[in-house]
Amino acid sequence: MNWITRALKIGEKIKKSIGKKFPTKAEQESSKWSALDCCMKGPILKSEMEKNLYVCPSCNKHHRISCRQRFDIFFGKNSYEIINTPLPTEDPLNWIDTKSYKERLKEARKKTNQNCAVMIAKGKINNVEVTAGAINFDFIGGSVGAAEGEAIIYGVQYAIDNKTPYVFFPCGGGQRMFESLIALANMTRTTLAINELKKNNLPYIVCFTDPTAGGITASFAMLGDIHFAEPGCLVAFAGKRVIQATVKEELSPDFQTAEFVEKHGFIDKVVHRKDLKDQVSGLLSILLKKNSDVNSETLNETSESNIQTREAS
Ligand SMILES: [Zn+2]
Repeated sequence: MNWITRALKIGEKIKKSIGKKFPTKAEQESSKWSALDCCMKGPILKSEMEKNLYVCPSCNKHHRISCRQRFDIFFGKNSYEIINTPLPTEDPLNWIDTKSYKERLKEARKKTNQNCAVMIAKGKINNVEVTAGAINFDFIGGSVGAAEGEAIIYGVQYAIDNKTPYVFFPCGGGQRMFESLIALANMTRTTLAINELKKNNLPYIVCFTDPTAGGITASFAMLGDIHFAEPGCLVAFAGKRVIQATVKEELSPDFQTAEFVEKHGFIDKVVHRKDLKDQVSGLLSILLKKNSDVNSETLNETSESNIQTREAS
């Protein structure tokens, strides 16, 4: 027996005595507890996180959520209807890299229980009828391909047909490069669709969530009449490192956070997840001239306090 086999045997013994170190994925999913990757204040009950709208109680980090979780918070559980959107031909380029795009799609569908990264729903918030869309980051990084573009446009058409405002919760890294030009073309298509919404005088409200970047920021996401954002979320086009290398300047640590982007005028207001529903419905009531007296009062109060804090800072 040489020293290598001896060392390996000792290693095996240690491994056995410690037992398994990391729980499997299935164990993690079935557990009542979840570990947060923000301030590391230890594990937290999943039910507690749900009650807290998936916002960390210690550091206020707004964790990423799925489309259904988003609609549950925005409309209330079982108070909305998911609208089926068309599914175009999948994998038009027959793309294969380390694995095939078809395989990636299959895995993403299983993981998220969604057909594509975008989901569209209709429902009421504080008595205002709304068509809403959201993107799930867990579906191939929330990237936009043909199906996602189709879903966003379908949502616009639905809003126009039913004369409702369109509220969108974007996230994701940009266009899906497994679909190359077809994905890129959806930047133009979604932009044109939003223009149609505006021609019909329907409000389009965008609520940025973490992280929104690339082609998503460069198309439909930045065209809202009003832009809200969740605290601390990343809103960017190119990544910070790329910009830093290009301009050869040190960028501030909060560069591309919602608060930074708000300071520079691309976002109108940073709003906590729990207040988004009231803020959006209050704004829509004014834009649609419904109960404007009541709602303009609440909005004025919050905007006044905003101005005061800005002046103070
Ligand atoms: Zn935290």
